[in-house]
Amino acid sequence: MQLQEINKIDIANKKIFIRCDFNVPVDEYQNITDDRRIRSALNTIRYCIDNDCAVIIASHFGRPKNGFEDKFSLKPIAKRLHTLLKTQIKLAPNVICYETIAMANELKSGEIMLLENMRFESGETKNDPELSKTLASLADVFINDAFGVSHRAHASVEGIAQYFDIDSKAAGFLLAKEIKFFYHIIEEPKRPFVSIVGGSKVSGKLEALYNLVPKVDKIIIGGGMAFTFLKALGHEIGNSLVEEELVPEALKIMDEAKELGVKFYLPVDVIAAEAFDSEAFAKAVTVQEIPKGWMGLDIGPASALLFAQALEDAHTILWNGPMGVYEMDKFAKGSTKLSHAVASSYATTVVGGGDTADLVRRTGDEDEMTFISTGGGASLELIEGKVLPGVKALIV
Ligand code: AMP
Repeated sequence: MQLQEINKIDIANKKIFIRCDFNVPVDEYQNITDDRRIRSALNTIRYCIDNDCAVIIASHFGRPKNGFEDKFSLKPIAKRLHTLLKTQIKLAPNVICYETIAMANELKSGEIMLLENMRFESGETKNDPELSKTLASLADVFINDAFGVSHRAHASVEGIAQYFDIDSKAAGFLLAKEIKFFYHIIEEPKRPFVSIVGGSKVSGKLEALYNLVPKVDKIIIGGGMAFTFLKALGHEIGNSLVEEELVPEALKIMDEAKELGVKFYLPVDVIAAEAFDSEAFAKAVTVQEIPKGWMGLDIGPASALLFAQALEDAHTILWNGPMGVYEMDKFAKGSTKLSHAVASSYATTVVGGGDTADLVRRTGDEDEMTFISTGGGASLELIEGKVLPGVKALIV
């Protein structure tokens, strides 16, 4: 697979449409609480400006329901872009309207314009060809740098690309980096390759598991999804999260791992609590001794040690999903210990998934990871072996 990349096409002096993912978290006063997604897009924007381009940027933000809503306006994002780039950002009054089109037409080389929230247009999520065509008509070149939304066939992500030929469209630096990291790690990993899969449910990660098992040397399962596997092995799991209907699938995955010689690790102990509550009485128990009516909300200390030991000889680690309910301090220890183990390993470490990225920030291990993906759903689809709709049109 060869991706068309921004530095491989001629963009000098052209008008560029860059789709970014500025869907950043904000507090109740509309203050941006984490601007990582904005900062990750700066390389591409600066590259275009350095090449004397006029730059039109588009993004979505939150989930507005019926057209323009002040609370979902990109105003705070325009301000932050201005602070980071130290240049004027012209915020359009809407996505597509007479003034926006006039602004785009008049935009000069070196200037940056930001369209309003793409999701103010109902055609965005419907991948409306009319909207895609109008957006495409604003520019000479289309750059997709919105990894976090590239698994969606939306008008400003997928539809728009159909209106540019392969020399006038490309992946921005962020998108290209994300795709390359996942491609290399999954298809050409340095071995031993260990994948850690956690999070709430097996159902959300079933396809990822099926794609990973034939590729990895070891697989470590934690979080709520571990209980479906433990149940499949005949353990009494109390009131822990379980997907009964997926017990046969869990058995199938474990059989396949066995057949392929993949080492399959499950928790040997858990932190069991009387209720799903940070104040609930909780204790560490082996998986053989989960009391009836209790629920496992984290891996236990023995599992954290076991998993850390399994990581010791790893040359590549791919981690998606926390080991427990890490949002509550009481059930965050297992995930924290594993985060430290991954961070202190000598392996290439790739973290995918919004929760896992959030977790390694909380544990202070962020700088020790080789790569942290900016997209949760998108990175999961790459692990599932899919070609993302927003990337398909950019393949040479
Ligand atoms: P996912 O979105 O599938 O990656 O799941 C992430 C969520 O799984 C986090 O919000 C965790 O709180 C939750 N989680 C992890 N372990 C457990 C568990 N043992 N029981 C219930 N929820 C869990």
